[in-house]
Amino acid sequence: MNIHEYQAKELLKSYGVPVPAGGIAYSDTQAAQIAEQLGGERWVVKAQIHAGGRGKAGGVRVVGSVDEVRAAADRLIGTRLVTHQTGPEGTLVKRVWVEQASHVHREYYLGFAIDRTTQRITLIASGEGGMDIEDVHRASPDKIIKETIDPAIGLLDFQCRKVAARIGLNGKLMAQAVRLIKGVYRCFRDRDALVAEINPLAVVDGGGEHKLMALDAKLSFDDNALYRQPQINEMRDLDEEDPKEVEASGHGLNYIALDGNIGCIVNGAGLAMATMDAITLHGARPANFLDVGGGASPQKVENACRIVLEDPNVKAILVNIFAGINRCDWVATGLIQAVKNLRIAAPMVVRLAGTNVQEGRLLLEQSGLAFITAANLDDAAAKAVAALEP
Ligand code: ADP
Ligand code: MG
Repeated sequence: MNIHEYQAKELLKSYGVPVPAGGIAYSDTQAAQIAEQLGGERWVVKAQIHAGGRGKAGGVRVVGSVDEVRAAADRLIGTRLVTHQTGPEGTLVKRVWVEQASHVHREYYLGFAIDRTTQRITLIASGEGGMDIEDVHRASPDKIIKETIDPAIGLLDFQCRKVAARIGLNGKLMAQAVRLIKGVYRCFRDRDALVAEINPLAVVDGGGEHKLMALDAKLSFDDNALYRQPQINEMRDLDEEDPKEVEASGHGLNYIALDGNIGCIVNGAGLAMATMDAITLHGARPANFLDVGGGASPQKVENACRIVLEDPNVKAILVNIFAGINRCDWVATGLIQAVKNLRIAAPMVVRLAGTNVQEGRLLLEQSGLAFITAANLDDAAAKAVAALEP
C-alpha cells in the first residue's frame, strides 16, 4: 500500500527526519491560507498523487507570492496529472501540499528496500539524486551505493557514516546524515515498509548554514502487515487504487486488473499463474487475475463474475477451479446464479476438478445455460481463446 508524500513526511517527521513545514489543501483558498500561515517568500505547491515524476510533469510548482500559490493550486486541483508513472490516463489531483521552498545546494538520493536476493533491508544512496535518478542508475550504476543491514543487529552508525562519506556528505552534514538515515530506517522497520525513498534528500540553507532535509518522501507498506499497523492503514487512499481491486478486496477476492480480454476466475495464486500462462500460450491475453480463494460460496463466485465483467475488455470468461477446500457444486451454483442474475452474454468456459466435481458438472449440464465445459487446463485455455472469435 502506498501513501501520499504529505503523509510520508508527517510520519518521517515523527522519527526525527527534518522535512519542510507545510500543510495540505483541498482548494486554492485553503492553499493560499496555508502559505500565509507558513510565511516566507517562496513556496512549493505539490500535487498529491501516488506516483512519482511529478516535477517533470508540472505537478511541483515553486512560486514567489501567495497569489501564485493560489493560482498553482487552482491549476492542479481537479486536473489529471500525467507522469511517466501514471500511465496515459493520468491521476486526478484532489489535494496539494503547500510547503516552504528551500534554497537547494545539492540533491542526494536515499532509499531503503528489501533486497530479495539477500532477503535483507538494504540502504541505497547516491550523491546524484533528484529528478534524473533513473538516468543515473542506467548510465552509471556504480554511482548507486548499497549497504545491507543485518536484521539481528540493525543499522549501525558506522554503516551510515560510510554511506554518507561515499556520497559526499562530510563534516557537520555527516552527523545530520547519520541521524536522518537512522530515522528513516526505524520508520521503515517499525511500520513494516517495503520501500522508502527520499529523493531528493537535499542540502539546503538553514539559518546561515547548510543542513539536510527530506524534500520528497515516498513510502510503501506491506499489505500483509496492515492488520498490525492501524495508523498506516488509516492513511490508505482508495481513490488512488483500481476501483475493481478495492471492490474485490471488500468481497474477500484477490483481483488484479490486466490488459487482455479473457476474464479469469480461478482458485489459488499458483493456478491463476498457470491459467494465465496457458491463455498466453494459446495466443491470447488474460484480462485479469482473480483468485476466489478457498471455500468460496456461490455468492462469492457470483461477485467474482460481476467484478470480472465490469472490465469492458472482457470478451470471454475462463473459470478454472481445482477444488480442495472449495466445492465444485458451490462454484457451479454461483456461476448459474451469475449468468441468470447478471445476464452474462460472453462465452464462459468452465473447467472443474476436485471436491464434488460430479455434482458440479451435473448442475451446469442441467441448468440449460450455454456453459462451455473443458476437461483440463489446456483444453479450457484453448476453448476460451477460440471463444473470442465471433
Ligand atoms: P517528484 O519526485 O514527483 O518529481 P519532488 O517532490 O521530488 O517530486 O519534487 C521535484 C523537484 O522539485 C525536487 O527534485 C526539488 O528539486 C524540487 N523541490 C521539491 N520540494 C522542494 C522544496 N520544498 N524546496 C525547493 N525545491 C523543492
Ligand atoms: Mg522526488
